[in-house]
Amino acid sequence: MLQPPHQSLQAAASLPAPRASAREDEDGPWHSEAVCRRDEAGLFFAPSKEPTAARLSREQAAKRVCARCPVMVECREHALLLPEPYGVWGGLTAAERRVVLARRRRREAAAAAGEAGQVSRIA
Ligand code: SF4
Repeated sequence: MLQPPHQSLQAAASLPAPRASAREDEDGPWHSEAVCRRDEAGLFFAPSKEPTAARLSREQAAKRVCARCPVMVECREHALLLPEPYGVWGGLTAAERRVVLARRRRREAAAAAGEAGQVSRIA
């Protein structure tokens, strides 16, 4: 099973260290290049009862880490495909990923409707 490069809240609760190098063998190929593997600041997931200003600041800091990550595209697609419900992945917050997914669904629906229209005109 593919594991996130940075810890989820559940993983954080079960693992003693922020980055578990033993997981590297289980991870996908892009995980070994993830910049956040060495990040121990807890930037990527919200602690409980985080104030809004602190959340925004933490998310911006996480995005700055993502911006210099060589596997940002792979990470983002992974998070969109699952979808990952929490945390910053591939430079996007959970809310931003929901917007991207909604846009994709609308585009797919429009494309499907367009194809159906073409078929009905041909038939
Ligand atoms: S894009 Fe961000 S969250 Fe994804 S692996 Fe890189 S640093 Fe981690």
